Amino acid sequence: MSSGGGFGMLAGMEHENTHPGERMRSLIASVEAHLTRLKEDGVTTVEVDPDTVRAWSETASASPESPPQPIPEPAKGESPVSDPLDAIARRVASCQLCRLCETRNRTVPGQGAPNPDIMFIGEGPGADEDKQGLAFVGRAGQLLTKIITAMGYEREDVWIGNIVKCRPPNNRVPTPDEMAACMPYLKEQIALLKPKVIVCLGATAVKGLFDTQTGITKLRGQWMTFEEIDTMPTYHPAYLLRNPPAKRDVWEDMKEVLRKLGRPVPEKSKT
Ligand code: SF4
Repeated sequence: MSSGGGFGMLAGMEHENTHPGERMRSLIASVEAHLTRLKEDGVTTVEVDPDTVRAWSETASASPESPPQPIPEPAKGESPVSDPLDAIARRVASCQLCRLCETRNRTVPGQGAPNPDIMFIGEGPGADEDKQGLAFVGRAGQLLTKIITAMGYEREDVWIGNIVKCRPPNNRVPTPDEMAACMPYLKEQIALLKPKVIVCLGATAVKGLFDTQTGITKLRGQWMTFEEIDTMPTYHPAYLLRNPPAKRDVWEDMKEVLRKLGRPVPEKSKT
């Protein structure tokens, strides 16, 4: 079995303002973490583009010793994160495994309760999230907050994150190789958080978790299982902003989630 996702593009990464030694250390740390995760997932062989190896060699030989750089601090979450989650956020903060690192301002690892009933997973950070380093803080995020509140929770009670941790330029949909490069972080987070239920917000979230081509319109409202966790696909809040009548469908899906969790089910949403 082999996997070349995310490695071929390392050769093309250029960061004019970053010291070559710092860049090399960051690349090595990112690749080590990624390979460890792939190994845990049963991957035994990884294809590496010869151009990538050549570029690495050139970078290494051009890198005089420089003092260790401080690891960037992750964004302040809405509630304190426990150490293993914090460690993931720190690795994400210096990650250069895909081209999205070239245009991001801040990484968005996700935030929320350590052992939540619900983990909401969206597509990727937008402009507001990229500025603040927090997931779902723009208009779509405000709508998600309303949905969470209508379900009888506060934002701090759940966990909120995305398939990719860096903003795709102009809010384009992340490419398959970007999603593949970033997924190990999310898988680690899911394993640590152990949510009772995952809610996939939109088609990209479902595609990232299940690698399916089936559209969200067909999948929404039907339980799926991701690594033994009940998972409910529904529409993304950004879609609801463009298409308010679809809020009714999302509310039906959230009622299903509440039933699954054995929680009181309000008849009417306040969204
Ligand atoms: S999107 Fe994910 S894989 Fe790509 S640079 Fe950001 S953290 Fe790394």
